[in-house]
Amino acid sequence: MNEYERKIHKLSQELIPVFDELDAETKEIIQEHARHCSECDRMLNTGDFMDTETEKTEDGERDDAPIQPLRQLVHINRGIRVMVFLIRILVLGVISYNSLRFQEFGDVVRTFQAGTFLIYLPTAIFLIAFTWTFLNKKWVFYSIVADVIILLGIWQLPLLQ
Ligand SMILES: [Zn+2]
Repeated sequence: MNEYERKIHKLSQELIPVFDELDAETKEIIQEHARHCSECDRMLNTGDFMDTETEKTEDGERDDAPIQPLRQLVHINRGIRVMVFLIRILVLGVISYNSLRFQEFGDVVRTFQAGTFLIYLPTAIFLIAFTWTFLNKKWVFYSIVADVIILLGIWQLPLLQ
């Protein structure tokens, strides 16, 4: 392994834990490298990079420090995904709770729809902008699809009557 390959290997080791979040071109570079590097290939295929923590501590602190912040980043990333999901559920829950005070189905639906467009829609737009800033663009796409389905579904609610 020459100096250049060693550098690519080092970068691959750092980036494989966040492989899903990488750009297509970066993924290609890592996959290209993994084709003739068994260590990276194993990491890539088994996804067992989380185990390296225990392995590393056994043979000292070697290489542990630079990987730590990246691992934190992966956790923060997952945290954000869970958070934007939970905020949507929470907002829909509050809107439902507020609507169910009414006896008449028509009133329930009207209140639910009003709540959706006054509260859920602005929240969704904010969360999509937030997702755009902090997460991979594919999550922006998933969010938009999910929100459009939710909004269209709620828009169709009066048809249940
Ligand atoms: Zn490698």
